[in-house]
Amino acid sequence: MLTLKNIVKNYVSADTTVAALAGVSMDFREHEFVSILGPSGCGKTTLLNIIGGLDHYTEGDLVISGRSTKEFTDSDWDAYRNHSIGFVFQSYNLIPHQSVLSNVELALTLSGVSKSERRRRAKEALERVGLGDQLHKRPNQMSGGQMQRVAIARALVNDPEILLADEPTGALDSETSVQVMDILKEISHDKLIIMVTHNPELADKYSSRIIRLLDGKVISDSNPYIASEEKKAPPKTEKHNKKKPSMSFFTALSLSMNNLMTKRGRTLLTSFAGSIGIIGIALILSVSTGVQLYIDRVQEDTLTSYPIQLQAETVDMTALMASLMDIDTDEGEGDKEAELERDRIYTSPVFYDLMNTVNAVETEKNNLKAFRAYLESNEEFAEVLSAVKYSYATDLNIYTKDPDGKIIHSDAQKLVQSLYGMSSDMVAGMNAGMAEMESMSSFATMQIWHELLEGTDGEPISEIVKSQYDIIHGKWPEAYNEAILFVSDRNELSDLTLFTLGFKGAEEMKTISDAAMNKEHIDTEAFAASWSYEEICAKEFKIILNSDRYQKNTNGTYADLSTNETGLSFLYDGENGIDIKIVGIARPNKDAVNSMISSGVGYTAELTRYIIDANNSSDIIKAQLADPSMDVLCALPFPSGEDELYTNAQKAEMIKGYFASLTQAEKAALYTRIASTPDALYLETAASDYLATTDRATLQASMITAYAQQMGTDDTAAIEAYFAKMDDIAFAEVARDLVKQQITAQYTAQVQASLGTLSTDALAAMLDTTPYTEEQYAEMFDLYMPATVSDSTYEDVLATLGYVDPESPSAIMLYASSFENKDKIADLISTYNDAANEDDEIQYTDYVALMMSSITTVINAISYVLIAFVAISLVVSSIMIGIITYISVLERTKEIGILRAIGASKKDISRVFNAETLIVGFSAGVIGIGVTLLLTIPINYILRTLTGIAILGAELPVGGAIVLVIISMVLTFIAGLIPSGVAAKKDPVEALRTE
Ligand code: ADP
Ligand code: MG
Repeated sequence: MLTLKNIVKNYVSADTTVAALAGVSMDFREHEFVSILGPSGCGKTTLLNIIGGLDHYTEGDLVISGRSTKEFTDSDWDAYRNHSIGFVFQSYNLIPHQSVLSNVELALTLSGVSKSERRRRAKEALERVGLGDQLHKRPNQMSGGQMQRVAIARALVNDPEILLADEPTGALDSETSVQVMDILKEISHDKLIIMVTHNPELADKYSSRIIRLLDGKVISDSNPYIASEEKKAPPKTEKHNKKKPSMSFFTALSLSMNNLMTKRGRTLLTSFAGSIGIIGIALILSVSTGVQLYIDRVQEDTLTSYPIQLQAETVDMTALMASLMDIDTDEGEGDKEAELERDRIYTSPVFYDLMNTVNAVETEKNNLKAFRAYLESNEEFAEVLSAVKYSYATDLNIYTKDPDGKIIHSDAQKLVQSLYGMSSDMVAGMNAGMAEMESMSSFATMQIWHELLEGTDGEPISEIVKSQYDIIHGKWPEAYNEAILFVSDRNELSDLTLFTLGFKGAEEMKTISDAAMNKEHIDTEAFAASWSYEEICAKEFKIILNSDRYQKNTNGTYADLSTNETGLSFLYDGENGIDIKIVGIARPNKDAVNSMISSGVGYTAELTRYIIDANNSSDIIKAQLADPSMDVLCALPFPSGEDELYTNAQKAEMIKGYFASLTQAEKAALYTRIASTPDALYLETAASDYLATTDRATLQASMITAYAQQMGTDDTAAIEAYFAKMDDIAFAEVARDLVKQQITAQYTAQVQASLGTLSTDALAAMLDTTPYTEEQYAEMFDLYMPATVSDSTYEDVLATLGYVDPESPSAIMLYASSFENKDKIADLISTYNDAANEDDEIQYTDYVALMMSSITTVINAISYVLIAFVAISLVVSSIMIGIITYISVLERTKEIGILRAIGASKKDISRVFNAETLIVGFSAGVIGIGVTLLLTIPINYILRTLTGIAILGAELPVGGAIVLVIISMVLTFIAGLIPSGVAAKKDPVEALRTE
């Protein structure tokens, strides 16, 4: 069944050629026990390796079951070794890190036998060699004879036709040698055994045929095989057609795993070293993810406070900025330095430029009416918006009573104003200052009443708002007349808020602020007060509608009742006031990064709509809307627009008509006013006369008295010195003014005294009968004619009355549903702008988005740079893992040889090492992730302590962690490719020879 035809094997090295076999020919029977004897170096091992397919002959042919091996491929050889050959070596060649059972199973694993079958057959083989009770020992826990029996079991387990044994008893004592030989003898009943031995006695005793070799040649054969002697056995080709042996990746893994487990310490260190790069990247990833998450949170919270705002009127600040920048860099007219001689002082038109610039700043009018209509009909907007809020310029007019029971307007700005009689400019200045302090809050501190963001689908209050606060008493408002009080996280309200809400009186506020202004110390404790939640909720607030404030007079005009206290209490206590109840108290929760409202009262958007509806449907507004040409408040027509210019004749005509419409008493009063006013000509003449007849000294004396009186000083000497410096002409100028004043006063007094004696009728008659000239009538028209047109406009009156066109909001707030969607909103607005005509285009600037996106970019950039640096350490650690794998290859050379001897292909060998690098890469990745997770605990602690931000923290994303483990595996795999390639290329014979 096995025929060697003139086999020659030459080992060629650099300078010499060793002929290990020099033409060996022989035939073997199917079952026989052949011993090969010969001195050391005569070529016995070489012959055995060639028969076993571990080594290849240089010349000749090896015929297996009638098939020449000349054309054998690598995988044919692998299959042959695996299925037909069993090797037994002098030095046992067991894999030290595998159990006895696994060592025996290995050959079956390669031939793809199922696990249970493998177990069974391996046990059987071990039982056959008498080791059925030592299955789980390691080879190094056994004696030499036992190990050799394991080796025989391994050789037998695949049921090969041929068993090759190279000095199997060479390392054994005679007693164990006999045991091993007995086993071999028994096997030879149904197998071909070719045994190389040094021991002629053993050969004689056990074998059926002895072949002697010398210097690579057969010198004797005790029982040569003659081809005709045996019935030709049917060729066992079907055996070679068995499945090609191949190691499953799982076997490779478990093989490597076992190997790694035997050197746990080193594997752990390797993995740890390999994990350092992963730790670096994972840490950067965690921190940047944490920061990104934080930014996202801030953005989400900020989005609620800073929606995209479209104002009905906006100032284009960019134009202003641009032109302001230009002032310095005005180089339009060439090199001025060259043109001007620099020995004089020149003008630079800065003020002119500035005025030009300011003049150039335009208030952009946004047509929100048109945009609103578009917004509501466009579905794309609905997808990217979480909420839309319209604000209308409507007055809330909330009133309450202060602790003394006085009705106050619950409006901080108005209250502070009235406290000091301050100008509204001063209060606005204060307001701006306070807003500055709360720079990130969108609400000025002086605004106490806030409209709350509505929910998107009908809820009165958006979840976004609710999520930022904890309710500490009551509930969120639901109806239009319900409101909620916002307190600080320490349950505090600012004194200004308390003042505005009527919990503190004006007296107390004044005491506090007077002390502050006079820089006096004040014990603020003395003003500390507190209220129970119930007291807060019991406070009464009333809204008085603008339209209700006006009461119709008998003459058809309207009077504003709220201007005096009686009227106010009539409105407040009467049936028109709308009750507003505080139904809950809320405070910002800890997680909210930026609460919308820190102190004040929130009401629903429903209230705004209610007020607008109530105002819009009031009689007075209906009346005004019905007749846009008449001002309903004063019952006069609105001015037509152009300034009317009358001729003197027209003026005279009109004033005469007016006189005619007056009652006797009115005529009398008017006549007295007209008559007691000296006319300009008279005044000039009288003053000139007086000045001409009076000398400077007399004049000066009387003027000093008058000046002192007017200036409120008694330092007459200073005034005298002042006059003394004037020349006569200048003095006359000053004197004339004073004289005119005195003459007017005298004249008025005299005329009134003389007219006082006359009856009303007589005075009235004098107005009718005095022959005034046309000029005089015209002059009287200018002075005394009452207004014939209203001094306000249609729009102003409607606004005063609280009218709001629901279709044209004063501002639209667009709340994006995510930060990315903000960009989409911007895109949609520009789409709208492209389609709209020029007047309807919408202008706005989203400063928050600008700011936030640049922060995100910076953080990303930093992360990338850091990751790039750390990636270098990752590469370094991969190279290290490659080197360690290479060392492992060197260490496991023997194992490679064994595996090859039992039929493992080159691919299987490289697979074993790839499996090993993958395991190392995986554990490096996992260790890296684990260490990172541990490190994030102190890092988060430090971050939070340093920044004081409770929700800021490094966080390793799951996906990132998985990707990092994969990266680690891929990198070590790549690094291990070269060493595993080296391992696969190892010559099996040489590999076996290494120790
Ligand atoms: P034996 O097993 O009979 O002691 P071997 O078959 O191992 O002898 O060796 C036969 C001859 O071939 C020896 O001279 C040995 O030096 C030589 N030889 C064996 N293997 C190699 C090799 N890989 N390279 C060079 N010479 C070798
Ligand atoms: Mg030898």
